[in-house]
Amino acid sequence: MPNLENIVFSGKRVLVRVDFNVPFGDDGQISDYSRIEAVVPTLEKLLEKNAKIILMSHRGRPKGERNESLSLRPAAAGLSKIIGKEVKFVADCVGEEVMSEVMKLQEGEILLLENLRFYSEEESGDVQFAKRLADLGEVYVNDAFGTAHRAHASTAIIAQFFPGNKAFGECMRSEIESVDKVLYGSEKPTVAIVGGAKVSSKITILKNLLPRVDHIIIGGGMAYTFAKAKGGKVGNSLVEEDFVSLAAEILREAVKQGVEIHLPSDSMNADAFSNDAKINVSSVMEIPDGFMGLDIGPKSIKHFHNVLSFARTILWNGPMGVFEMENFSDGTREIGLAVAESTEKGAFSLVGGGDSVAAVKQFELADRVSYVSTGGGAMLEYLEGRELPGIAAIKA
Ligand code: AMP
Repeated sequence: MPNLENIVFSGKRVLVRVDFNVPFGDDGQISDYSRIEAVVPTLEKLLEKNAKIILMSHRGRPKGERNESLSLRPAAAGLSKIIGKEVKFVADCVGEEVMSEVMKLQEGEILLLENLRFYSEEESGDVQFAKRLADLGEVYVNDAFGTAHRAHASTAIIAQFFPGNKAFGECMRSEIESVDKVLYGSEKPTVAIVGGAKVSSKITILKNLLPRVDHIIIGGGMAYTFAKAKGGKVGNSLVEEDFVSLAAEILREAVKQGVEIHLPSDSMNADAFSNDAKINVSSVMEIPDGFMGLDIGPKSIKHFHNVLSFARTILWNGPMGVFEMENFSDGTREIGLAVAESTEKGAFSLVGGGDSVAAVKQFELADRVSYVSTGGGAMLEYLEGRELPGIAAIKA
């Protein structure tokens, strides 16, 4: 894997694609610095190697037009605070002024360019635009896992202009290594926990996981489509009728491949999609009329906890219930705790792709698992077994 160890950086202009698409609060301030913090290891390495660092990123969806409310200027200040060093900013990402600022850079200095998506050519993957960006640097580093599934000018197209002079940054490297460890080189048994709202968005992941894991725990809204596939009565629970037969096929395929699928045995139900709804617990196969399953029940928690207690490798994608509502958060919290306990006993655990990342943060478990992915959509596509353009372009 081309990484920062393979390239000479000293005195070179190094163009680094980062993901500074950070959330902002109502006060106009950055509300979560995780994406900025994620690139610090790469920046520290490049500073150590006396590089001249040029950072480029997108922010939001300006749809190819200049939009001051989506400027990256606050991110320069945010990064400067985190690394304790001046971060220069230039109010464009291509053109004469940018080139002149880039040429003034000294070794160990950092310059952040303005939002790439102020140009529609970024998202369309325009080769000429990629070339104009490429002209700014002598080496290209991609550290933006969150956009690696997009073939944009700065994430994939640009890499062709740096033969032998391109590499993954540290954040990107750990993302790839963590997910590859789970999918291809893990200590057994491997347990995948797949939850979230819909089967339709997880079916390709389930198919891709079957030949690679030993157990799959299924929870969340999608569990009810599986319960229906097994002949259950699921009341008003979320069911995707078009996917009932595919769910049945996954269950049959799992038996063929020797993978144990663990479905919830009981369900926490509500008579409305609300934290104040009337609640009850029933078998997942016998949900009373007028009720919908919004979380896994206590027996399922116990069973899933037991499966996770002997796991050596764990992948967690998607919550067990509507964890955003207190009354339906037990399943997700308890499964999160079980993942943390197994990790403390030496298992490797990766949480990624979807709302399970929000859940581990909400339950303050992020420090108790091995790795929390920074890339939602990109991680989902990687788990589906697709080759991400941003990764392929560096390897090419
Ligand atoms: P996903 O983005 O597919 O991982 O889905 C995450 C969403 O699924 C969360 O917002 C949960 O509230 C929701 N969810 C989990 N369990 C259920 C359920 N039983 N019924 C409806 N929505 C659910």
